[in-house]
Amino acid sequence: MDYDCLIVGSGHGGVQAAVSLRQHGFAGSIGLVSDDRDLPYERPPLSKDYLAGAKPFERILIRPPEFWATRNIDLLLGNEVTRLDATEKRVSCANGAAFGYGQLIWAAGGRPRKMTCAGHELRGIHSVRNRADVDGIMNELASVQRVVVIGGGYIGLEAAAVLTKLGKAVVVVEAMDRVLARVAAEPLSRFYEKEHRDHGVDIRLATGIESFVGNDGRLSGVRLTDGEMLAADMAIVGIGILPCVEPLVVAGAAGRNGVDIDDHCRTSLADVFAIGDCARMVSGHGLRIESVQNASDQATAVAKTLCGGPAPYSAVPWFWSNQYDLRLQTVGLSSGYDQTVVRGDPNERKFSVVYLRDGVVVALDCVNAVKDYVEGRALVEGRARIAADILADNGIALKSLVNR
Ligand code: FAD
Repeated sequence: MDYDCLIVGSGHGGVQAAVSLRQHGFAGSIGLVSDDRDLPYERPPLSKDYLAGAKPFERILIRPPEFWATRNIDLLLGNEVTRLDATEKRVSCANGAAFGYGQLIWAAGGRPRKMTCAGHELRGIHSVRNRADVDGIMNELASVQRVVVIGGGYIGLEAAAVLTKLGKAVVVVEAMDRVLARVAAEPLSRFYEKEHRDHGVDIRLATGIESFVGNDGRLSGVRLTDGEMLAADMAIVGIGILPCVEPLVVAGAAGRNGVDIDDHCRTSLADVFAIGDCARMVSGHGLRIESVQNASDQATAVAKTLCGGPAPYSAVPWFWSNQYDLRLQTVGLSSGYDQTVVRGDPNERKFSVVYLRDGVVVALDCVNAVKDYVEGRALVEGRARIAADILADNGIALKSLVNR
């Protein structure tokens, strides 16, 4: 089967690419290939409402089942693309299926990094990346009391919050000296550590995993690098992803840690675009960003390009995380910050951390502070230069600082 536009990956990026192509008038054939067998679904609820049992699968579908046929988009589920022939403009799948393309949009996301230490193959050790992972966790929960979460990033902490609320005894083990160290400044890390501890989570910092131990092939404990043995019925591993780009790289696409793209999301291969978690934008912000907003907005940018209205991708990133009754909203990119300002009082569980680089506001993390999030966006977009003492004054609305 040949498609005018073939999209690989039915996650947030791939789905938005198909939807945006039709919205922008693309009249050619569209095929959406995925190794996933489920209808396209949202990933963020997997570590939040879906894991908590508060949202059934039907409510996390990105579009209703009948949507695809009405938009004349072929859903080609259960096909893992293993090879790309960029000269013949064809992809081949592990099951022998093959699809030709006029334009290819690669939106294959990433697969979870796994532990490799002794015992890593025991039953009861889980990742949280797709529906099957989370169904596997939920199916075991009734017989689980003690959970070790490995990795204090957003996914690990969200899972810890849900499992604690479900009455499990949770230990979070983080290799660095604070949680969220890769994505946020210390005030935010310390706030979330305290929140989790206040909810009964045991947090171990600057600690690694030596090995997993088990009984009859099932996890029974986790040995830490400091020698302590934690009893555990389940381990959840949240230590990041490896971008799924092998077929592109083997076909000659440039990239390390994902595939490189320009500011129109073009790879170095002709007629091959890449978007979302698997793509690193070299000519824009220079980063590979893992968020729904990034995948969706890059998808829309590619759709516009393919529909004859090329628009470089330049959206201001945003992100969210839900833990307990806390809603964190982030806008901008904090990487490379050299100063932070805390607005509001973390003890009141409503505050923001403002990130500055060379005196310019580059990002905000807002906890239960929607107003700061909404108003702070304009400061980031406008690359505002605001003195720290003014930003710190919670009585001054951020919107009053725009265009100062
Ligand atoms: P994905 O959504 O991962 O989709 C990739 C698709 O490609 C999948 O369907 C996969 O099966 C398919 N695929 C992979 N390899 C192949 C292949 N070789 N052949 C065929 N198909 C293939 N972001 C936020 O902004 N806010 C959040 O709160 C948030 N929470 C999250 C919670 C969890 C548990 C997870 C896992 C992620 C979360 N994220 C969140 C991140 C967000 O979900 C991702 O950034 C987003 O899904 C990226 O979209 P994508 O299309 O690039 O990749």
